[in-house]
Amino acid sequence: VRFYNSAFQSSTPTSAFAGKKGANGNYTVTLVPGDGIGPEIAESVKTIFKAAKAPIEWEEVDVTPILKDGKTVIPDEAIKSIKKNTVALKGPLATPIGKGHVSLNLTLRRTFSLFANVRPCVSIQGYKTAYDNVNTVLIRENTEGEYSGIEHEIVDGVVQSIKLITREASERVARYAFHYASENGRNKVTAVHKANIMKMSDGMFLTACRDVAKEYPNIAYDEDLLDRVCLRIATDPTPFADRVMVMPNLYGDILSDLSAGLIGGLGLTPSGNIGKDASIFEAVHGSAPDIAGKGLANPTALLLSSLMMLRHMGLYELADKIEKAALSTIAEGKAITGDLGGKASTQQYTEAILAKL
Ligand code: NAD
Repeated sequence: VRFYNSAFQSSTPTSAFAGKKGANGNYTVTLVPGDGIGPEIAESVKTIFKAAKAPIEWEEVDVTPILKDGKTVIPDEAIKSIKKNTVALKGPLATPIGKGHVSLNLTLRRTFSLFANVRPCVSIQGYKTAYDNVNTVLIRENTEGEYSGIEHEIVDGVVQSIKLITREASERVARYAFHYASENGRNKVTAVHKANIMKMSDGMFLTACRDVAKEYPNIAYDEDLLDRVCLRIATDPTPFADRVMVMPNLYGDILSDLSAGLIGGLGLTPSGNIGKDASIFEAVHGSAPDIAGKGLANPTALLLSSLMMLRHMGLYELADKIEKAALSTIAEGKAITGDLGGKASTQQYTEAILAKL
């Protein structure tokens, strides 16, 4: 068996942009520790990588926006670093609600055309939740939909928000979903949509998926409504273990949190933002301001994201070794963090993983 847990991968290990090896045999990876609990969980990942002798050198950058020509932008140094290294691990970034600078997450996704967001959600053996067989992979279109940020007030009290769907982005994410399915032993792609209501926009998304499906005769294809999928996954996630779900941006945001709830919460769900020129790996969760700075955060989601990153770079054995140590620590239940019902601090959990490497 090549993978200890095959869902935690990103799928394009052979691509030319999956990390660059330096003369000393090490890879340089950009690290954005992020806000809130970001620095604490990033520290945990760094400690574990060091102990596992990972051939990774971190290039730490700050993405705090700066004012340039009257606009708030991400510092050039951060952009240059990700462009050069082509692979980054990122902690959560806080986004102001309502007003303020544009979401940094969105800016990064746009700057690097991170077109597919891969979100695996897998039950951790030994950690008891309502289901012990969740194994879903959701691929979210990452650049448009309701996240296009085009909003205006037409007249006082009436606001219009544009959901933008393009054939190009739909086809690109659909092709990635089929590619992922064929590389990872999943025999079906399900397009999740609301084309019953949004006939033109989601309708075009579906047309793109159907056309791409013809290129993959060995992968089955079907379609399901978002609301029905929510009900079905919450009722019984078993049938979703054989497939990849692909969907427009906002649906993926919501459905992935629902799936996270089935396996023990946001502390456990990783993701990869896959792009043409670079890929950025990050936890699904945010900066958790309520527990920041207290040493309580669960670093597992960022750690699993870093393992998706290692597999993206072709470093399978190392990823398997770290994954085994982390998941068996959770399964034992002696040193788990508060979100999972334990009493361990971030550091105690990290040390328990180190002892198993
Ligand atoms: P959140 O994910 O930060 O927190 C939700 C709840 O889950 C909180 O109770 C938190 O304590 C808990 N939680 C999350 N991660 C945890 C972990 N690793 N260990 C233990 N508990 C954890 O969501 P939020 O509070 O809605 O958002 C906070 C900020 O994060 C906002 O500014 C939001 O915009 C931002 N955000 C960023 C990203 C990203 O950078 N990709 C994603 C989501 C939210």
